[in-house]
Amino acid sequence: MSTKTLKEEHRDRISEAAAAIADWPALWRDLLKLHVAGADGRCRGCLSAVRMAPRSPCHIAAMASHAAVIFQERALRN
Ligand SMILES: [Zn+2]
Repeated sequence: MSTKTLKEEHRDRISEAAAAIADWPALWRDLLKLHVAGADGRCRGCLSAVRMAPRSPCHIAAMASHAAVIFQERALRN
């Protein structure tokens, strides 16, 4: 049985996804451009007709910015 909280599990998933797309800068750069805060503080990239957009930074923006950090760390190692 896992002793991690749901929040920790969620953060792990975001980290895993970030590591997976880190070497694909065209993707995370586009995501970072799209998923920015609007005037109301909510993500403009997550706009939906059926539900309210999440507060910025959304999970996609968090993953993309984490991917950018991983990308830079990998570049420094090479
Ligand atoms: Zn978003």
